[in-house]
Amino acid sequence: MRIGVVGLGYVGIVTAAVLAERGNEIIGVDVDGNKVGMLEKGTAPIHEPGLGELISRNSNRNRFSTDYGVLKDAEIIFISVPTPTSNGNADMSYVMSAVRSASNANGNAIIIVKSTTLPGTAAKIRSELGIEVVTNPEFISEGTAVRDTEKPDRIIIGSRSRKAADAVESIWSFTGAETVVTSNENAELIKYASNTFLATKISFVNELANLCEKLPNTDIDVISRGMGLDKRISPYFLKAGMGFGGSCFPKDTRALASFARSVGETTSIVEAAIEVNRKRIDRVVGHIKDSCGNGIGSARIGVLGLAFKKDTDDIRESQAINLIGRLKAQAGSIYAYDPVVKHGIDGVNMCATKEECIEKSDVVVIATDWDEFKDIAVDESKTVIDCKRILDPNRYKRFKGVGIGTGDK
Ligand code: NAD
Repeated sequence: MRIGVVGLGYVGIVTAAVLAERGNEIIGVDVDGNKVGMLEKGTAPIHEPGLGELISRNSNRNRFSTDYGVLKDAEIIFISVPTPTSNGNADMSYVMSAVRSASNANGNAIIIVKSTTLPGTAAKIRSELGIEVVTNPEFISEGTAVRDTEKPDRIIIGSRSRKAADAVESIWSFTGAETVVTSNENAELIKYASNTFLATKISFVNELANLCEKLPNTDIDVISRGMGLDKRISPYFLKAGMGFGGSCFPKDTRALASFARSVGETTSIVEAAIEVNRKRIDRVVGHIKDSCGNGIGSARIGVLGLAFKKDTDDIRESQAINLIGRLKAQAGSIYAYDPVVKHGIDGVNMCATKEECIEKSDVVVIATDWDEFKDIAVDESKTVIDCKRILDPNRYKRFKGVGIGTGDK
């Protein structure tokens, strides 16, 4: 098929790359000329395992442009532009604008919205623009996005047209995933419900981690393991840490909470999850302060990891960056290292290696769970604060791990 993809970010470019690998011809459009230029040269504009190979291998089947006009030959067009929040409310204007432009360029193609959209967005597109769209939300995780697109847990298709739904189902049939075909509104809400549920799970376990820190002989990692073995609970998103960040959970929790309020309902559990997450950085700053014998004002803090999770270069709403923001006003100096995030951050001394970052710091904070941090060597004079619980506590003399009971190492 000739498949158009509008918005070549984390979702769009992975969708395009996987569908090109399946033999489809891809016509990608983005307003960002730099990104389009890189893709035209066969280079991935983001760090995502396996993506670069797919893009370069299928470059003969890919075309990229900033001009919507190239979409005129597409049989279907995916929309994967941002849906940020502004003042806590979800902003669907990028989707409205991209759908309008795609439809102007090609009135015959089936338009499929992959962006995360509030319930009622497809209906709004229908009433305001006179265009029918299929809602096909995306569930990838950054860091495993290629694998998640090739082998998703499920495909959700919201459509008023059986024919359009069938067309979308056949595109994804190679995945073998169970498919739910339903209304646009159900498909839209399934996405928010899924993300806010996972975020709530994270906040739940982080609150329990706080409780563990007050109790002797407890460890949240052991408790999570014990809970997660129950199939009804599952071990996923049950790891205590620094709280959720990234481009989806923070904005999607805010969006659902404010959307619910706008229709006269309250999602109090989601609101609590947001509040628990907001306080997470205070907790970590507290641990850092407790470990600075001579006060944080003279301490050199080393932050290992800047991306919001391992295997990505995405720092959007990263808790590591939020932590640095809070430390800047208080700490003597801040050093940081990340395996892939290399651009400078205001007020932070960027280090070329993890060893340099550790060497220059008095307190070393694990802020992202990159595999290469799992076995760091740290001098006995320095304190290690493991906010991601990836280290063996017994290897370090001065150690604090989130969710480990008081009095224990
Ligand atoms: P992104 O910011 O990485 O990429 C969006 C791209 O759209 C950018 O390259 C931008 O230049 C382009 N763009 C913006 N306006 C445009 C327009 N009018 N026409 C053409 N291009 C335009 O975003 P993302 O992370 O890929 O997320 C896209 C959507 O998918 C969002 O709704 C997000 O919530 C959802 N989503 C993201 C993820 C994820 O892991 N990142 C997972 C599931 C769902």
